[in-house]
Amino acid sequence: MTKPSPLSHVRNIGIAAHVDAGKTTLTERILFYTGASHKIGEVHDGAAHMDYMAEEQRHGITITSAVTKAPWRGHLLQIVDTPGHVDFTVEVERSMRVLDGAILVLDGVRGVEPQTETVWRQRCRFNLPVLIFVNKMDRPGADFGQALASVRQRLGAEPVPVTLPLAEGPGGRPSVVHLIERRLLGFTGDQGSDLIDEPCPDVIWDQFASQREALLLACAEQDDDLADRVLSGEEPEPAELWAALRRGTLAGTHFPCFGGSALRNLGVQPLLDGVVKLLPAPLDRPPSQALRPDGGTEEVAMDAKGTLVALAFKVQMWEGRRHVFARLYRNHLKPGDKVQFLTADGRILTEQVARIFEVDAGRKTKLDQAQAGEIVLLAGLRHATTGDTLCAPGHLLRLERIEAREPVLGLAVEPAAGTDEGKLLEALDKVLEEDPTLRLEEDPETGQRLLRGMGELHLAIVIERLEREFRVGVRSGRPAVAVRETILGAGVGDQIHATPPIIEQKIPERRARVVVAVEARVRGAGVQILDEIPEVLPAGASLNAEQAVAVRAGLCAALEAGPLLGTPVEDVAARILRVEVFGAASTPEALRAAAVRAVHKALEAASPAPLKPLMAMEVVVPEENLGAVLGDLQSRHALIRATRSEGDRVTIDCEVALEQVLGYTTDLRGQTQGRGQFSLDFERFDLV
Ligand code: GDP
Repeated sequence: MTKPSPLSHVRNIGIAAHVDAGKTTLTERILFYTGASHKIGEVHDGAAHMDYMAEEQRHGITITSAVTKAPWRGHLLQIVDTPGHVDFTVEVERSMRVLDGAILVLDGVRGVEPQTETVWRQRCRFNLPVLIFVNKMDRPGADFGQALASVRQRLGAEPVPVTLPLAEGPGGRPSVVHLIERRLLGFTGDQGSDLIDEPCPDVIWDQFASQREALLLACAEQDDDLADRVLSGEEPEPAELWAALRRGTLAGTHFPCFGGSALRNLGVQPLLDGVVKLLPAPLDRPPSQALRPDGGTEEVAMDAKGTLVALAFKVQMWEGRRHVFARLYRNHLKPGDKVQFLTADGRILTEQVARIFEVDAGRKTKLDQAQAGEIVLLAGLRHATTGDTLCAPGHLLRLERIEAREPVLGLAVEPAAGTDEGKLLEALDKVLEEDPTLRLEEDPETGQRLLRGMGELHLAIVIERLEREFRVGVRSGRPAVAVRETILGAGVGDQIHATPPIIEQKIPERRARVVVAVEARVRGAGVQILDEIPEVLPAGASLNAEQAVAVRAGLCAALEAGPLLGTPVEDVAARILRVEVFGAASTPEALRAAAVRAVHKALEAASPAPLKPLMAMEVVVPEENLGAVLGDLQSRHALIRATRSEGDRVTIDCEVALEQVLGYTTDLRGQTQGRGQFSLDFERFDLV
């Protein structure tokens, strides 16, 4: 058990980046320097400590948010590793929800990349204070100033330089200049773990006058007194600069930047000092808003006192058993404690926490108690799931839920020869439980099972996990995109539902008539059921509550499975014009059936049409491949919205049907000798 750290000494951080910027390598270095791991695992050896899932080592990317604790200068860093691939953005969002700050890693050659922008948008949503690590400064073409310029231009954020790498330090040592401390830091010894910390000689310091000026001005913005002194040419004390920069960082107006190279062990320790000095402790974060069962709201501050509030943010199978990652906001939790929570579908459940663990990547250690601010793993909860707020019984509250995205790609799955159906279903069950972005659907006619996910890589990794972790052979079909249906015009459907009585089964006659009108709405407007009171026949009759509910339920059911493809209907307004009742024969069942059929008739009369997922795509390619890539995109009917040149790379911003870019990874690789990259984000269902 670790000794409890006071909350003021805890830093909950995530590390986010575009794929390949060096997030995993940086995390490994952090664990090494803090003593949390004794050996540096290199990503290219497939031995990284954080990427413990076999698939991650194969794909060389980070998928599962693993939590790791690292002590640094009397503080406890809780690092939640966040995935970088767009297919896993929900994982990023889920972990950001429970972080207090983040390190954004940039590639020193490439600066801000497409997914840097994606994670930036998420950071903005949760208002997370951020430090920027400009990595790979050892690479030819790396340019700190240029990277900061890309932060300003593409993220619209104000970068503040703090440490700058030197091309060649004294004695050829890898070194950085610390602009706040006015020191020169050299990295030597075993893997850069020994620091030579000396005053920065004037000859070197003078080269950085303009960056120091930028730092001073940024700090001055936070403090009028400091501003006056800076303008009169006074040199403020480092402590004053730290304090001012911290204010700007917490307020989300300034973004301190640290240069270095994780792979070459350059500049990581001063970044960690920055985490401790500039990023917030849990208590520095604004309180979260929580909803009470009576509809009122309550502010939940991070606090040892008050009733228990914890957020479950990830479910993970561990040694075959179900575990829940949770962050404590208020009070503490002990093994044996009961927790109560409201499920997504509105049930109130109470469960007992059997055991509590602290987590270090693939290892877990038992704890006697978890306190507010901590991120822990809970065993014994069978129902609590991602997004649930765990509370003290009788004191229910609900923090904002983490939203799930549309799983737009499907893959038909069936057991391979030698694997039985039951085993596949059991394994799928476990995988689905962990990952709210996955869905399993069954075609009622063919009995075929369709696994739905966020993209090709996402599904490929799930299939691999089934085979590797659960030892279940899977045969999968070609990926198929999700479809919806809509109408292009307007129509009316009039349906009499009539079934004769079945005397033997004592089922009476059923009869009802419903008339429905539908019309198209603009794309993306969704479904609207107009709540006008319909005409009821015969004159003088009215619907009782049960009958009214049945008609509306019929309408909703019909719009959930349209007449064209049996898929949900989008962008349609529906209205019940008329209902005719026939005494006791107009049972709720009869009304519901008439309503379903009336809606389908109306939709059929209104020019039904299929809708398919349309994606926002960003493709980054070397200039010399631009022509070939654009030509290929046009043949896929992509709508090019903009192109932007930066150095010798061009970013193409376009809109394309998902169907058209299945397998694009391979094609783009071929067109660019492996140097092109792209990201896809679901935009809307549309006619394509
Ligand atoms: P992630 O996808 O952001 O986790 O990136 P990784 O940490 O997996 O790094 C991607 C690649 O860049 C790997 O081959 C690393 O060895 C390499 N890399 C990481 N940091 C540096 C660095 O500072 N300099 C150089 N030259 N390469 C680096």
